[in-house]
Amino acid sequence: MAKTKREISAGGVVFRRGDLGIEIALTSAQNGEIWCLPKGLINKGESLEQTALREVKEETGLEGRIIRKIAEIKYWYYSKWEQVRIFKIVHFFLMECIGGNPAEHDFEVDEVKWFPLDEAREILSYKSERETLEKAEFILASSPFPTHI
Ligand code: ATP
Repeated sequence: MAKTKREISAGGVVFRRGDLGIEIALTSAQNGEIWCLPKGLINKGESLEQTALREVKEETGLEGRIIRKIAEIKYWYYSKWEQVRIFKIVHFFLMECIGGNPAEHDFEVDEVKWFPLDEAREILSYKSERETLEKAEFILASSPFPTHI
């Protein structure tokens, strides 16, 4: 049986108020074939919140302020490089964008783009990330506070 390993990452559903409503920052890879929520592996000694804020800054160039935890997603993938099956847990936080510059995104990211909620839901590549966005929408719709700042 193949070896297995566990990985833990954290990331964010980063939102801002645009002229036409709430917009979400997504990152693309593989020349726009894949669109994802920003995330990355936890470093030793970091809290999940610290990881999520750091990874959002590193990957998108944007600075976030955490509103609250949204959900965690889980999936398996196979790492050819390590020849091991990896069980991954990713913790996602709802974050309001409070600054930064998306032009300063990570070189591993092809593009950082703001999408209206409906488009972000359509374009996200992974079902579990679409579900995370839907949970974020529910939180934003049911709480007046984050959208009125
Ligand atoms: P991190 O961003 O946490 O540093 P990474 O970029 O090294 O991680 P992942 O984004 O976890 O790696 O991608 C590893 C593999 O898992 C890829 O094959 C990718 O297509 C797949 N993958 C990524 N996100 C999901 C998901 N939400 N559901 C299913 N498979 C996924």
